[in-house]
Amino acid sequence: MVLSLLLGRLLGEAMNMSTTGVQPAGPADVTVVLFRDDLRVADNPALHAALERQGSVIALYVLDEVSSDIRPLGGASRWWLHESLLALRASLEPLGVPLVLRKGATEAVVRLVVAESGATRILWNRRYGLAEIAIDTRLESQLRACGLEAASFQASLLFEPWTIRTGGGTPYSVFTPFWRACLAGPEPRAPLPVPTPAGVAAPSVDTDALEEWALQPSNPDWASGLRRTWIPGEASAGARLQRFLDDELEGYSLGRDVPAQHATSRLSPHLRWGEISAHQIWHEVRAIRPSLSPRGADGAAKFLSEVGWREFSWHVLFHSPRLADMPWRREFDDFQWPVLDRRALEAWQRGQTGIPLVDAGMRELWQTGTMHNRVRMVTASFLTKNLLIDWREGERWFWDTLVDADPAANPFNWQWVAGSGADAAPYFRIFNPEVQAKKFDPERSYILQYVPECEGTEYPAPIVDLAHSRQAALAAHFEMKARAGERKVP
Ligand SMILES: Cc1cc2nc3c(=O)[nH]c(=O)nc-3n(C[C@H](O)[C@H](O)[C@H](O)COP(=O)(O)OP(=O)(O)OC[C@H]3O[C@@H](n4cnc5c(N)ncnc54)[C@H](O)[C@@H]3O)c2cc1C
Repeated sequence: MVLSLLLGRLLGEAMNMSTTGVQPAGPADVTVVLFRDDLRVADNPALHAALERQGSVIALYVLDEVSSDIRPLGGASRWWLHESLLALRASLEPLGVPLVLRKGATEAVVRLVVAESGATRILWNRRYGLAEIAIDTRLESQLRACGLEAASFQASLLFEPWTIRTGGGTPYSVFTPFWRACLAGPEPRAPLPVPTPAGVAAPSVDTDALEEWALQPSNPDWASGLRRTWIPGEASAGARLQRFLDDELEGYSLGRDVPAQHATSRLSPHLRWGEISAHQIWHEVRAIRPSLSPRGADGAAKFLSEVGWREFSWHVLFHSPRLADMPWRREFDDFQWPVLDRRALEAWQRGQTGIPLVDAGMRELWQTGTMHNRVRMVTASFLTKNLLIDWREGERWFWDTLVDADPAANPFNWQWVAGSGADAAPYFRIFNPEVQAKKFDPERSYILQYVPECEGTEYPAPIVDLAHSRQAALAAHFEMKARAGERKVP
């Protein structure tokens, strides 16, 4: 009933609009731009298109925790989102664009805000998860059915998942040829500048107060380490990229595997929330390439290929939308996980396994909301192979605690380590955390930073024997292979 009244009102307001083509701007032209994983004003195609017109613009962020199949944000992501929305509001202000915050099902909220503002045009940047695509597709047809203009743009990925195909027309399942195909295509478009401010003041529309959303932890406040480690927001993302290019790119290829070196960009949460775009990164790196030393050029290619892994994980998620809860390799459907050992899982989560490198990683994660990539691989391998705990348990913990928790990269990488994913490490690859520590943290500086009690005193005994648990993991995987062979599972 309410819906039909609203739609009627929408239709009434939109009566003078034609449904196709770009409309000439009139004094009452109001555009709503939906913000989701693109919390920036530079290189934001939807915002740019909205501000190219003479009318007024409203930015709308919908906290949608109710639409079906939407994955609720983890705790660290909620903390980041709060900070990032504050930063976004501040950057939109000089553009004359108010940020409206609303909670609820995206489609219903958009219809309400459109009705309240008299907007005739709704623009957004595209998303690539199954549930998100379903919402955006329905929204687009509902809005168009009401005679409104609805349009979407490419903003978050350099290469949209359906545009990169093998010679046989299928999606890629191996990174190297995928990235080669990406690089062989046309150069990604140049990033857009910060748009010029709106010419007309936006109509006043109610907004929730950000504090009402309670995205920040209060009792207990576990976010102090996150606050010390990160400054969310577009300005901070840009500064981080610049610092990385100036000071760290040269040493990236060699240093990126050494957790104590801080040789990586630490851009992942900024990319996750779209405070910086892959297009901006791509073109900044390309622009400095002629002036780089051979080592710098090597670092630049390696760095861009890591951004390529992000593209690949979205490519895989788009074509296998249930990546967070189903093995990508079907033979792993048959894998017999033992009954969950909750105490072992908790010891892992708390960084109390008795394995210094694993404990350091898990404590880094808890304290700072991030963990070095090499250590993510080691801790994930320890959980799934030595403790024989289902990768989905680990994926969920990372989803809750990582500030860069990403709907594609997180399950993709968990499955990569577990052996069940696309282009995954073979199932018999089991990282030995002690060997890894010797190789990548020879001075133990990373370990001692997070597990200071390791120095001098006797560290508690490991909760599992590394050699025996390795054998048990191999046996379980051989069994799965044998079962899959009998049933000829691909
Ligand atoms: C078990 C596990 C879970 C992970 N979960 C996430 C996650 O939820 N979100 C996330 O962004 N990354 C995830 N990663 C990938 C990687 O660890 C992080 O992207 C990286 O540590 C971020 O640090 P950085 O920004 O300094 O990376 P850099 O080395 O500077 O790389 C630049 C960018 O490339 C992208 N990137 C790098 N490595 C990968 C990768 N393996 N897969 C996908 N993108 C990559 C990131 O966007 C990163 O910011 C996970 C890895 C593992 C092993």
